[in-house]
Amino acid sequence: MATPLFPSERLDRARRAAAALGLEALLISPGADLRYLTGYDAQPLERLTCLVLPVDAEPCLLVPALEKPAALASPAGQLGIEIIGWAEGDDPYALAAARLPRTVTRVGLDNRMWFEKALALRGALPDAEQSLAGAALYGLRMRKTNEEAAALRRAGEAIDRVHSRVGEWLRAGRTEREVGRDIADAIIAEGHVRVDFVIVGSGPNSASPHHELSDRVIHPGDPVVVDIGGTTDQGYCSDSTRVYVIGQPPEEFLNLYEVLLQAQTAQTAAVRPGITAAELDAVGRNLITEAGYGDYFIHRTGHGIGLESHEEPYITADSDLPLEPGMAFSIEPGIYLPDRYGARIEDIVVCTEDGGERLNRTNRDLVILP
Ligand code: ZN
Ligand code: ZN
Repeated sequence: MATPLFPSERLDRARRAAAALGLEALLISPGADLRYLTGYDAQPLERLTCLVLPVDAEPCLLVPALEKPAALASPAGQLGIEIIGWAEGDDPYALAAARLPRTVTRVGLDNRMWFEKALALRGALPDAEQSLAGAALYGLRMRKTNEEAAALRRAGEAIDRVHSRVGEWLRAGRTEREVGRDIADAIIAEGHVRVDFVIVGSGPNSASPHHELSDRVIHPGDPVVVDIGGTTDQGYCSDSTRVYVIGQPPEEFLNLYEVLLQAQTAQTAAVRPGITAAELDAVGRNLITEAGYGDYFIHRTGHGIGLESHEEPYITADSDLPLEPGMAFSIEPGIYLPDRYGARIEDIVVCTEDGGERLNRTNRDLVILP
């Protein structure tokens, strides 16, 4: 019996999606695609691990013999597919090719496959044109099942617990790096197995959207952007941003934050089936532009999230993709005044049948710390 989070029918859906694109097989190496299709969180190693998924023949999972116990113990062991452990001295690329029809002319490789593996597969299948499996898989991955939405909800609750504790560590006189180290420990302690990123942007660093950590000492009056995320044991990711301030912030910052909060609140409320990514982006961008900050909202509204912290669908000004129930993505507008300060507010939202469900529930108001 396959596990509910990684159902075996997913392999058939992937085959149908591949066939619709004219692909005769998918070849999937360790990463989010392999985990999505099999539940196996394989190590990316120099030795080949590969799901061989022909559209009209039996699939198999090729793994180095020494990894076979781990593969069998993973949800992949419950899928009812053959797991083949190849021995030292075997040519795993020839074994993969032997599982495909001799006449194969088009295969899809996962978008993140190491180039050396793609080249070795080209050598083993010289007549097969290679293309990206993402064209077949990303449409499936962005429509989450109820079980996946529940896994994302659990990740959201874990990162919310970290945000609700930030006041324990964030204060004037400490460096961003010291605060970041405490936050990273809490990301693990509160229910993740991996820290994906910790951004603590204080004072002028808050105006740099992807600033991470520095040795800057936090001062009274500094706005501090804290954007954090991790991966849970189920493989699903969290990502949430809140803005803190130590004592009394500059007057204009309060105005900027109010505009941003209105924009982010309007966008999370606007999520519903049928609205396009571009329309959702515009809901926030228009409010920010009307308030005079349009030139300072310098990135897209958000990104999809699941087994990767950035995946489709991207919520951009030029995407006509209509949202559907099950799509999960961030809503994270920001306003950044260079060399002065900036702010970003970020929640993960899942599109539902009649609206959207916010998975991050901590208060979005500016958090004033002593
Ligand atoms: Zn983030
Ligand atoms: Zn994000």
